[in-house]
Amino acid sequence: MPTNPYAWLDESLATIHRADWYRSVQTIHGRPGATVVLAGQEVINFASNDYLGLAGDQQLIVAATAAIEEFGTGSTGSRLLSGHRELHRELEEAIASTKQTEDALVFSSGYLANLGAITALVGKRDLILSDQYNHSSLKNGAILSGAKVVEYPHCDLAVLKTQLNWHRQNYRRCLILTDSVFSMDGDLCPIPALLDLADQFNCMLLVDEAHATGVLGKTGAGCVEHFGCTGKQLIQIGTLSKALGSLGGYVAGSNALIDFLRNRAPSWIYTTGLSPADTAAALAAVKIVQQEPQRRAQLWKNVHYLKNLLHQQLPNLKLLPSESPILCFQLPSATDALKAGKQLRDAGIFAPAIRPPTVSTSRIRISLMATHEPAHIDKLVAVLRRVLSSEC
Ligand SMILES: *Cc1c(COP(=O)(O)O)cnc(C)c1O
Repeated sequence: MPTNPYAWLDESLATIHRADWYRSVQTIHGRPGATVVLAGQEVINFASNDYLGLAGDQQLIVAATAAIEEFGTGSTGSRLLSGHRELHRELEEAIASTKQTEDALVFSSGYLANLGAITALVGKRDLILSDQYNHSSLKNGAILSGAKVVEYPHCDLAVLKTQLNWHRQNYRRCLILTDSVFSMDGDLCPIPALLDLADQFNCMLLVDEAHATGVLGKTGAGCVEHFGCTGKQLIQIGTLSKALGSLGGYVAGSNALIDFLRNRAPSWIYTTGLSPADTAAALAAVKIVQQEPQRRAQLWKNVHYLKNLLHQQLPNLKLLPSESPILCFQLPSATDALKAGKQLRDAGIFAPAIRPPTVSTSRIRISLMATHEPAHIDKLVAVLRRVLSSEC
């Protein structure tokens, strides 16, 4: 009986299509910015993680180009073998200085930083408590570690405390995992209260600052700084690919933590060091974050401008709670979200529909940049009024 062992792929794809969960890539032309050309059409870009507009910034381009001229295109090996350059160390020192931690370690992506840190820190005898809305890299890191994983309802510290009371004593180490800015919602985790719980139950706390670095805090160090927790003992993860406009990830924390990860994090040890261009671009970005606070101020001005306009002009819009440049509004179904996303795009607004399985309820997600102009935001709100007139 000859059967096709791959036939299930087409059936699975058909199921994905029927649920309106199907996804595909869309081509952006030219440099990234507040407006981009998307599949031939100029649109205002509310879909980017490039919060400070650095990914197309001339200073980063010059730094990356100079690094390629000096060091070549590839780092040629893992950091512990032939892949380590002075540039990597400079970047790690700059990150540690921004975060005010003893040290930092740069990974090839934020995803790999989470996989590496979590699998190094806990194993079979240990417990992970993880926010239900955490990013995929935290969830998969938890699974890969082999630890017992218990999810707590989104930001529900009362339940987290009950779970700690119930489970903590049965395990050796315990690691609490959380996004600091939740990437598909835009709200913040309560870091001070999490630190108290971690302290009370002898747990490590890992916060993922991917959407907070360069964005939150007086100096742009992130949510930890925003909540006045700088200097507290915890594990900070982040990415170089969002506000920092490059590619790569990092862990920041104590000397002992970083030294341990250099010896035990497989996704750092067994992968090629970050390319010279990415490293140099990120280093230039970290310096800009430190030296040009006006970019962050402009981003927050845009956030407040949009929130006020939405409040005035679309008072019935179901905005999810947000304390970041990520603003989402809910729609009843994946089909409605897709339809709204398509109508926005036809009107020149790029703000994607986010659907299951990424999130449990479908939504349109808007992310703001420092480089958006008031006219961009005015147009967004005008188009939203038109597109959503039937629902709001
Ligand atoms: C984007 C993101 C990551 C992954 O970072 P990359 O550098 O893109 O791999 C990890 N965690 C969170 C919360 C993110 O939003």
